[in-house]
Amino acid sequence: MPSPGMGHLIPLSELAKLLVLRHGFTATFIVFSDFSDHAQTAFLDSLPSGFSYVVLPPLPLDDVPPDAHVETRLSIMAERSVPHVRDVLRSLRRTTRLAAYVIDLFCGETLPVAKELGVPHYLFFTTSFMVLSLLLHLPALDQATSCEYRDLPEPVVLPGCVPLRGEDLLHPMQDRTDDAYRCVLNIARRIREVDGILVNSFVDLEPAVYAALKEAEPEVGRPNVHAIGPVIHRGSHGGAKGKECLRWLDEQPPGSVLFVSFGSGGTLSTEQIQELAWGLEASGRRFLWVVRCPSDRVASGAFFHLQGPDDPLRYLPEGFLERTRGAGLVVPLWVPQVEVLAHAATGGFLTHCGWNSLLESFVHGVPMIAWPLYAEQRTNAVMMADGLGVALRPKTAADCSGLVLREEVAEVARELMEREAGRKAREKAGKLKQAAAQAVAVAGRDGSSCKALAEVAQYWKDNEATGDV
Ligand code: UDP
Repeated sequence: MPSPGMGHLIPLSELAKLLVLRHGFTATFIVFSDFSDHAQTAFLDSLPSGFSYVVLPPLPLDDVPPDAHVETRLSIMAERSVPHVRDVLRSLRRTTRLAAYVIDLFCGETLPVAKELGVPHYLFFTTSFMVLSLLLHLPALDQATSCEYRDLPEPVVLPGCVPLRGEDLLHPMQDRTDDAYRCVLNIARRIREVDGILVNSFVDLEPAVYAALKEAEPEVGRPNVHAIGPVIHRGSHGGAKGKECLRWLDEQPPGSVLFVSFGSGGTLSTEQIQELAWGLEASGRRFLWVVRCPSDRVASGAFFHLQGPDDPLRYLPEGFLERTRGAGLVVPLWVPQVEVLAHAATGGFLTHCGWNSLLESFVHGVPMIAWPLYAEQRTNAVMMADGLGVALRPKTAADCSGLVLREEVAEVARELMEREAGRKAREKAGKLKQAAAQAVAVAGRDGSSCKALAEVAQYWKDNEATGDV
């Protein structure tokens, strides 16, 4: 059961593919009816045989304030889905044997249903071990802290992790009086209830934090963790527009294009779109930019509904498209990101640091510019820039209104694409590419992630839940 959003659906479906194609299970997705965006429905319909999906009835959210954080909305949706999930699981159990119920992070409220029915319940954790560690420590951190985390005099140091300043902790941890913080705290308590956590990361990416979590497993309330990543999307889901941008990439010199994208739901303010545009133009670098309509209120403005009637291109500075024609390509809304990252012309990635985007970048060895927006993205950005050294992070990035100015955009783009700092990041990205490939290697030289998933699959087979409700 994935929570809404391509960033949640894609990795869970890729995990399901491994379980179906490699380990002989069948998979049924339980999805929210808000999966109404074309990209999401088309994606589900394209899954091969062995997969099915059940759409839950619409869950009204009229009473949720429009400016509620994504985390709050997702948690409320999960809470309201509980009776329906119970119906679905019961009905599935009439015709099949349920090996496991696998959720992602925001569906934790449905866990008691699986417990009630005696079905092993697992969390597919679609971000890093570092964020998992943060969540597992959150209840204790909450108890021990009386101020806002951003006012802490010292960074938070978690076992095996790079130190985190308060302002780089999860977005919903930034205001402890907000509902979103309570939701995250609740999620942090819930994840201790699962039978196991499958993490979309790999041991060589985060060896120290992985080791620390493994060591803590015998403690009460510390589920077993399994490093099974990188599980990324490898097929195409870009449609005609996608093909057009790949053709454009074909015409560009190797390693010359900076790919600019803010994930499935990220949006910028009107002013920020303009500054970014001026900055890209001033950098003189080639770029491929996925542009969304602005959202001046929240940075996750396209999370629930990607497509509006509005044309994103009309928010670009006047004459921008004409002036950058040839050197830059602007694509509204969506491109086949994995194919873009895999393309030889792509030499850098300006990313919002969503975990899937980062994994996809590692797999293809692309160095990055970290431009986090919301959720756990700032935490990821610290790991990319300070921990792994595969990303540059604009230092003086924001003026007092939080705007990243054009000079900074131009500077960091040049830095990544043609200077020493970029060369170093590229070298590190190349090493990570090898490590990522090794982790999922099959055929005789099974990688660590491959083996870990095989062990879990075997355990499920040995422990299949039987009987009717
Ligand atoms: N994505 C894509 N094309 C786009 C934007 C996003 O294919 O134009 C995919 C991307 O490859 C990734 C997912 O959507 O698999 C975004 O997930 P991520 O965790 O990076 O960010 P989120 O959308 O959850 O913020």
